[in-house]
This record gives sequence, C-alpha cells and structure tokens, in this order.
Amino acid sequence: MKLSGPATLALSGLAFLTAIGAAASTEVNVYSYRQEYLVQPLIEQFTERQGVTVNIVYIKEGLLERLKAEGANSPADVVLTADVARLDALAEAGLLRAVSSPLLDRDIPAQYHGPDGLWFGLTTRARVVYYARDRIEPGELSTYEDLADPRWRGRICMRSGHHIYNRGLIAAMIAHHGEATTETWLRGVKANLARRPQGNDRTQIKTITEGLCDLSIGNTYYMGLMKQDEKQRHWAEAVAIFFPNQGDSDRGGWGTHVNISGAAVTKSAKNLAAAVAFIEFLSGDEAQRIYAEQNLEYPVKAGVPWHPEVESWGGFEADRLDLDAVAAYGPAATMLVDRVGFDD
Ligand code: FE
Repeated sequence: MKLSGPATLALSGLAFLTAIGAAASTEVNVYSYRQEYLVQPLIEQFTERQGVTVNIVYIKEGLLERLKAEGANSPADVVLTADVARLDALAEAGLLRAVSSPLLDRDIPAQYHGPDGLWFGLTTRARVVYYARDRIEPGELSTYEDLADPRWRGRICMRSGHHIYNRGLIAAMIAHHGEATTETWLRGVKANLARRPQGNDRTQIKTITEGLCDLSIGNTYYMGLMKQDEKQRHWAEAVAIFFPNQGDSDRGGWGTHVNISGAAVTKSAKNLAAAVAFIEFLSGDEAQRIYAEQNLEYPVKAGVPWHPEVESWGGFEADRLDLDAVAAYGPAATMLVDRVGFDD
C-alpha cells in the first residue's frame, strides 16, 4: 500500500503501522470475564476498522489462576473484566504490564486509571439505593451513612458483604471515614437488615416487590436489564433508583460510589501494539457508545451519550475518589465484613 499526503491522517496508530509494513501484529488474544453479548459487537467493529483479528476466550471463573499457571507462556494479550478489585488483584499478582498511551490518558479520567497504567476503566456503574415506590418517598433518602439509622430497622435487603460490589462500597466508606467509623456504620446497616444477606442485586429488588423489605443497594444497570426482561419487568417497575451522597460535601455529599469495568494488557503479551490499540479502541467514541447501549453502563469517555433508559434515572455526582484507593481498602473491607458478622 502506497501512502501519500493526507491519506495517512485517516489511519489510526495501528493501521498506520501495518500499512507502512512495521512489525505490528494482526491479531490479539483476549481473556474476557465480560459476557459474549456485550463483547462480540465491540470485537467485530475493531476488526472491521483496524484489520486485527481478535481471538477471545470467555472465562467464567479462575482468570487470575489461569494467567498465573500459564505464566510467560500465556497466549493472552488483554484481559477484560468488571470491578476494580479484580483488576487490582491481577496487578498485585504481577500479571499486568504498564501501558502508556496519550489516547487512553485523554479519553479515560485519571481516577479510573490503575497505577502506572496497569489497567484502565472503560465503563462505570453506580451503586445506588433501590427503594419501594409505594412505601418510600425519595425525600426520606439521603446518604449511605443514613442507612445505618434505626428508622430503617428491618427494612433493608442486601446481598453478601463479601461480594465485590459491596466490598467496593465498604472500601470507599473506609477511604472517606476510616475503619472505626465504617465499622459502626456497617453494624448499623446490619442491624437494619430484614433478613440474612443472600442472593444477588436483583434478588433484593424482587424481595422489595414481595414486601419483605423497602430498600436495597444495587448496581444501576440492573434496573435497565430487569426492564428488558419480561419476567422481571414488574420488579423494576415497583422500585426507583436513588443516588446517595449528592449535594454539599459538608453534608455527606461525597458522591455516589461507582466502580468500573475495565481492561489491561498482560505481562506476557506478545501482540503488544495490537493489545494497546484494542484498549484504545474500547475507550473511543464508537466502542463507548456500544457499551452504553448494550449493558446500560456509563461510558467513561465524556460526551458519549447515555442509553435513554440510563438517562431517565437522572444525572448524579460520582465519588471523585481514585479507584486505586477503593482497591487498596478492599482487604480492610473484607476483614470488617467478617468482624461485624455482616453475613451471619
Ligand atoms: Fe453485575
């Protein structure tokens, strides 16, 4: 291929390298915890745009163990997963490679970058309060901290405190308030539970529908996913989303806790240029729009439109805490959940 003048400008980094015959790989190998229905459209667009084949393995569990066992021989170049705790665990195990990319720096807010570019957030999800429309007025709700107030006694449903979604929230509480205050809070929330923690985020909302409790904590996208599911739509319709900790910072307005889904390049990556190009693609407008539409998450890139359903929940201030800090307090959160006997 002969390149001249402005035509080269139309080619992005990897395509340009490939076009001029540089040693850029034409395939990239991905291990994904994220589901096929979400990832497949992204892969198809990437291959179409940049001519790079994506070989993908969908993994349900044991991603870290698998990468460890494969060591330097691992075929994986990129991992896709949800939750900063999982990304952090891979980084802590020395399985990730630091990436420096002006494009990723531009598209992804710094609070969603791992240390030294070890991982990158691609979407966010807020951990919000779901409340029974017919039993709670939104004006009664304010902060996560308030959920420990005795007036909520017997009215809250939660999944296990050890689930990474709750661990992330508890870790964020520790980052903001310290361990002692967070322990008191968690004991208060525990005292307000209608029943022993069990099930997943949707289970709690179903239980609200059944009248056993009046509010729960769950990730935002489940509202949309339940509405798209004929059998679960009536659960979604019985509840509404409340974004906690909005408003003045001196009145607890540190923002609603968010977590990420993200990507990282493995230490063993052989197709390095293609791996970085793939993550850059995922942070770009086109992929960010696909993420927003497919899974009702928030795109990390500013200016990318939200799904209309997501838009209908309204805007909110997200916690500005660096997600590094949330990951760092994960182990402390786990110990706190045990100490409080939250799941007992
Ligand atoms: Fe989820």
